[in-house]
Amino acid sequence: MIPFNKPYMTGDELYYIKDAVTRGKISGNGYYTRKCHNFFKENIGFRNCLLTSSCTDALEMAAILVDIKPGDEVIIPSYTFVSTANAFALRGAKIIFADSRSDEPNIDATLLEGLISSKTKAIVVVHYAGVSCDMDTVMHIANEHNLFVVEDAAQAIDSYYKDKPLGTIGHLAAFSFHETKNIISGEGGMLVINDKRFDKRAEIIWEKGTNRSAFFRGEVDKYSWVDVGSSFLPSDVTAAFLYAQLENLKKIQSRRTTLWYTYYEGLKMLESQGLLRLPKIPAYATCNGHLFYIVCEHIEERSQLINYLKDNGVYAVFHYVSLHKSPFYKTVKDSIKLKNCEMFSERLVRLPLYYELHMEDQNKIINLITSFFDKK
Ligand SMILES: *Cc1c(COP(=O)(O)O)cnc(C)c1O
Repeated sequence: MIPFNKPYMTGDELYYIKDAVTRGKISGNGYYTRKCHNFFKENIGFRNCLLTSSCTDALEMAAILVDIKPGDEVIIPSYTFVSTANAFALRGAKIIFADSRSDEPNIDATLLEGLISSKTKAIVVVHYAGVSCDMDTVMHIANEHNLFVVEDAAQAIDSYYKDKPLGTIGHLAAFSFHETKNIISGEGGMLVINDKRFDKRAEIIWEKGTNRSAFFRGEVDKYSWVDVGSSFLPSDVTAAFLYAQLENLKKIQSRRTTLWYTYYEGLKMLESQGLLRLPKIPAYATCNGHLFYIVCEHIEERSQLINYLKDNGVYAVFHYVSLHKSPFYKTVKDSIKLKNCEMFSERLVRLPLYYELHMEDQNKIINLITSFFDKK
């Protein structure tokens, strides 16, 4: 069976973990945590960043930083992973779901204006598949209404919007290093802080509501409880693992984008025949090879395709049950209809894409999909 995902180990992980252990300090904010922070600052250009134990954690930090209070409204795409909304729901926000564009799953920025009310505090965008949202439109609307923008950049490492790295555009951004992402540490994430007003408080929230980081820098003579917070920082063992991956960022990205374009080239004939739809990369965006999907004609066809692939040894999956139709959300809000989001929830299929996917296996997948649609 060709799996859907296979976490890629670069081979240097154990070396760095051993070194972290040998150094004798494996709690958070240690040697490798700082090495990772520096890597991101120097190689991607993040102004300030903090490793977290997950992207979910980073989103929760963002919700605390923008000071979400019960009753505040936060606009979020419905076509996303549950954490994007949950982090804000946890602070009592009312989630206002936005629809996707018709041509790709990203949020339809032209709908934002109509969703804003006097209670709106923030807009959360998700760069689905690592492909940028229409950020000029999003930032323009947010600035006009004085709203915060949080980028859920979980899938968007090393991807760009008009030459700007994703994660540097909103006030805050959250990345994931979960083993299903491009760069991994098992579980892991990062908060990127673009608005310097958040610098000090972010560090405090990260360190359980204390000013411990300032204490270690010698800025205060004792550390105390100064704000709310939690234990958002990962162990230095996790950071050591991550560092091994980061050193291989270029290699990993190059392999994954090659696989992405091989799917694209191999299937574009079917698209031109009108048999399926392929991902669209707008002119302002780049492809970071995070995930490859196809869009079927309807839900029955998708189920048939997934079963056909499974019968032939290929594991493909669908995802994102629309959040506005989830059991939890339904208890708090009358049903709404988001046409494009529901369309992608019903018709989108993700194909296997991982560093070690062999060319022969990928060709087999392309041939299977071609024969599935040829038979129709
Ligand atoms: C993976 C993912 C998350 C969650 O990341 P974790 O690190 O598992 O918390 C959040 N949002 C999106 C869009 C994701 O793809």
